[in-house]
Amino acid sequence: MEKKEMVCIVCPVGCRLEVFEDDKSKSGYIVKNAACPRGEIYAVKELKNPTRVVTSTVKIKNGLLNRLPVKTDGTISKDKIFECMEIINSIEVDAPIKVGHIIVENVLGEGVNIIATRSMALAEKE
Ligand code: SF4
Repeated sequence: MEKKEMVCIVCPVGCRLEVFEDDKSKSGYIVKNAACPRGEIYAVKELKNPTRVVTSTVKIKNGLLNRLPVKTDGTISKDKIFECMEIINSIEVDAPIKVGHIIVENVLGEGVNIIATRSMALAEKE
């Protein structure tokens, strides 16, 4: 039986998981060395459909800074991250923006939004 090794990133403990394919188990895998049930859930999801939260910045006009930090408010499929970054890189928003403001709704149909992770006031005019 082929063994896959991975580190669980759900919490800071970072359990070193060993995963074996197993047709007889419900998930299709046996997960060893997980200190809690979340490790098995993480490992199976990571093998079947890996997802990530995307964090980045977008251009902002008339703000105190030139870039506004953003992130997805949930995870998206790993194979859609490049497309998501292309969308993020094409966006320019106008200040002022409040933290939590939705910049892109339902990005790539993944059921998550791109949101602002800080507020940005208007730049003071000289
Ligand atoms: S298996 Fe549980 S305890 Fe271990 S890193 Fe994952 S979430 Fe943390």
